[in-house]
Amino acid sequence: MKNYYVMTLFPEMIENVVRESISGRAIKAGLMNVEAFNIRDYTKDAHNHVDDYPYGGGAGMLMQVQPIVDCYQHIVDQIGHRPARVLFMSPQGRTFDQRMAEELAAEEDILFLCGHYEGIDERALEILDVEHVSIGDYILTGGELPALSMIDSISRLVHGVLNKDASHEIESFSDGLLEYPQYTRPEVYEDRRVPAILLSGDHKKVDEWRHQMSLDRTKERRPDLYEAYVASHAKEFAPKKPKRRRKRAE
Ligand code: SAM
Repeated sequence: MKNYYVMTLFPEMIENVVRESISGRAIKAGLMNVEAFNIRDYTKDAHNHVDDYPYGGGAGMLMQVQPIVDCYQHIVDQIGHRPARVLFMSPQGRTFDQRMAEELAAEEDILFLCGHYEGIDERALEILDVEHVSIGDYILTGGELPALSMIDSISRLVHGVLNKDASHEIESFSDGLLEYPQYTRPEVYEDRRVPAILLSGDHKKVDEWRHQMSLDRTKERRPDLYEAYVASHAKEFAPKKPKRRRKRAE
């Protein structure tokens, strides 16, 4: 069972999304558990405030240290240990990618701390000793969408979450290439035919075609990935030696 704990000011955002579709089924099947903790429930402020002005001035508000530390301590007490990974959703962090999703899918429990407003008092981040993780070089209003994106992509790598365990193994990024084009019924739609090779029943040829399409597509859409793939598959791209012709016996 994988356990994901989310510290947030908007627990409904997390709960409403994870109970849908594949993650919802995985939770019902007992494969994973997602628990959202409302940081506001831990404030000691008489007016339930969780944010305040930044020292030194500047725009916006910052989330205060006390409710965050108390919320974290509650989670640690509840589960009996510090979660294996404590991740702060932050545009300043390591960029989340498929490799990191695979790394995190091996962990039993992960805590996601979602910031809001202009961010979080630095002391909370130090006390929780967080890893900063970003979902890309752009600024969102809060860490909830990053946490949900990460939970979604990590959980589909968890054994049993997808119908077929192999179905994620042939996807974009799993072997450093983008996925080939896919088709389903009907065979013809407004003069557009499914490529004949896919109807041939020749599995070897289908695999070769798919691999070639993956290469072409990656080269065109993500030249950075293509270059890395070529560099790590030198054998596949080595110039083919001309076949030696046998001399015909006179
Ligand atoms: N002032 C902060 C900075 O420049 O680093 C940005 C604050 S942002 C408006 C509010 C919160 O959204 C952040 O604390 C973080 O939790 C989340 N967030 C925003 N963009 C993100 C991204 N690209 N990846 C992960 N989390 C992000």
